[in-house]
Amino acid sequence: MKRICGWQELPITDIESRGWLRSFLERQRDGLTGHLNVAGYPFNTDGWLRDSLPRGPRTLASWWPFEQYAYWVDGVVRCGLLLNDKTLLRRARRQIDHVLQNPDKDGYLGPASLKTLADHARPSERWPHAVFFRAITADYDARSSAKTLKALVRHYLSNTAAHDKTRNVCNVETMAWLYEKTGDRRLLDEAVRSYTAFQNNHPKSGATIKNMLSNARAKDHGPTYMELFKLGALLYRVTGQRRWLDASINAQKKLVRDHLLVDGVPSTTEHLRGRYSNAGHETCVITDYPWALGYLLMATGDATYADGIERAIFNALPGAVTPDFKALQYFSGPNQVIACAGSNHHEHGRGGMQTTYRPNPATECCPGNIHRAMPNYIARMWLNDGRGGIVSACYGPSAVTLGSGRNALRINQETNYPFDDSITFRFQGKRTAPCALPYVFPNGAKTRGFI
Ligand SMILES: [Zn+2]
Repeated sequence: MKRICGWQELPITDIESRGWLRSFLERQRDGLTGHLNVAGYPFNTDGWLRDSLPRGPRTLASWWPFEQYAYWVDGVVRCGLLLNDKTLLRRARRQIDHVLQNPDKDGYLGPASLKTLADHARPSERWPHAVFFRAITADYDARSSAKTLKALVRHYLSNTAAHDKTRNVCNVETMAWLYEKTGDRRLLDEAVRSYTAFQNNHPKSGATIKNMLSNARAKDHGPTYMELFKLGALLYRVTGQRRWLDASINAQKKLVRDHLLVDGVPSTTEHLRGRYSNAGHETCVITDYPWALGYLLMATGDATYADGIERAIFNALPGAVTPDFKALQYFSGPNQVIACAGSNHHEHGRGGMQTTYRPNPATECCPGNIHRAMPNYIARMWLNDGRGGIVSACYGPSAVTLGSGRNALRINQETNYPFDDSITFRFQGKRTAPCALPYVFPNGAKTRGFI
């Protein structure tokens, strides 16, 4: 029988951003999120509509442009759903629908250049799929369809790739989501098999269960580590494997101990670098770290993780992008006295333009990934506690609507938080049945109220 431990995401369409959060999304839309094609390669291509993309002047491999484009599609669809913006949704769905409606005969979805070649001369790449499918899972909330689930299940059971090496293992995120939606054990089995095999395939990764549970300091590539360390908590939710959850918990404790900077994001100028006065972080990690914390929050209900999400999003995110959302940095940090051409003081690329605000910094991952940060924050402000209750997990001006028709209940969170410390919850509806409302306060205190 299907089991889900802990809290769950609500459909993103149940949540409404208000106040400064909505204004942030609107500036995203009017800035790069709605116009990223002006930022050049690979965002000026047809993305996932093509079987392969030309290698740009600096790209490393055929998968890279697809990863970048997929980050963007995920941000665009979530921003579009939260703003109910038809233009953004049309743009994202053009990509999503093309992929879902054009499977290979064996069920594989996506660009041909990422599929294992017949001669196996090149390994299959599935990491970009993990990124792209997050957009599909978000859009599913607005357009629930058995066809979507069936297409994704077929893809994962197509046996066209193992998902047990490198960041390909991150596909267990979609497999676990599919298992939650369908109860199909084959997805859970494939997720567990992939994650277990990953442990043996990459014994030196800081994100194996063994190494996460150890006291050793992680030195891995930042965005990779953020994507991998969450998997223990994510899979605990569908397997009940306590040791996997403990590993993710300990990995996060070590991140705080060894790498967390004052603005709430781990020191990650490409690799985890430790704490020092002019340490910084890659913009991808401003998106990826809070996303990982969200899984620990849902698995444990521990408000510490909600604190961590708020701290990163409220402090590091606004610093890495201009207020009009038309330029961003590749590296940012708490102490950036100067940010212009040639001012990068970090070990990686010292003297380069990594700290310069540009529509498309030197590495294209960050300009794709930054679009996900705020929509993801808003999507997880309100959670389902799995027992009929609603959790106000992260704070900010917003509203949630539960149920429909006569049973609809709307909760307005009236606040200018974090610019103001007072928050008023206003309830609207005729619902008479009791509804548990566990409040989680950012300071770690918890209380429980009933309406
Ligand atoms: Zn990046």
